[in-house]
Amino acid sequence: RFITVEGIDGCGKSTQARLLAEALGRAGYDVLMLREPGGVAISEKIRALLLDPANAEMSDTCELLLYEAARAQLVHEVIAPALAAGRMVVCDRFYDSTTAYQGYAGGVPLDVVARANALAVGACAPDLTLVFDIDPAVAARRRAARDEDRMEAKGLAYQHRVAEGFRAIAASDPARVHLIDAARDVDAIHADVVSFVKSQLRT
Ligand code: C5P
Repeated sequence: RFITVEGIDGCGKSTQARLLAEALGRAGYDVLMLREPGGVAISEKIRALLLDPANAEMSDTCELLLYEAARAQLVHEVIAPALAAGRMVVCDRFYDSTTAYQGYAGGVPLDVVARANALAVGACAPDLTLVFDIDPAVAARRRAARDEDRMEAKGLAYQHRVAEGFRAIAASDPARVHLIDAARDVDAIHADVVSFVKSQLRT
């Protein structure tokens, strides 16, 4: 099974992904925890290119293709072999991030993003996706508290478009994508995530 966690910057998804992977491990699943962009050496190098402020002038198409390149390598090296071996994969971000950030927020046409996503992942689509939904202003305050202001350059309006994008993705694919209210405390969200994922794994 392939589970992805998604949401805007500061929504808490990385913490929840780690807690979920630990809980699934305790429940006896063989779990592999990954993050995007990154996860393997080539993709971590591409991540550094993408997040380097010196590359702020990067074109939208270059950015899109770098995210897809990082993803293609992660799928090829790790995700596809792990799923083929029957392991459970939990990935912190996957192609819905590209649809929300580069597509809905960045203005790349959604059909272009969809084709690029398909090229990168082939048959490796997530079975279940959790979107951590939170008011971008609340998420911005959390990031400020952590001293994480990387995305502030793009501003709150951009994060609003990303959040709307994730909601649209959830609405368009309700069988796969589940919205989680991420404004609550860590333990309440985690309990909700575990009960939802376990109910899905039984079906
Ligand atoms: O999830 P994480 O904080 O590691 O994401 C790294 C950064 O990359 C974030 O600031 C996020 O906004 C950005 N990102 C992006 N487009 C994507 C995926 C991530 O702009 N497709």
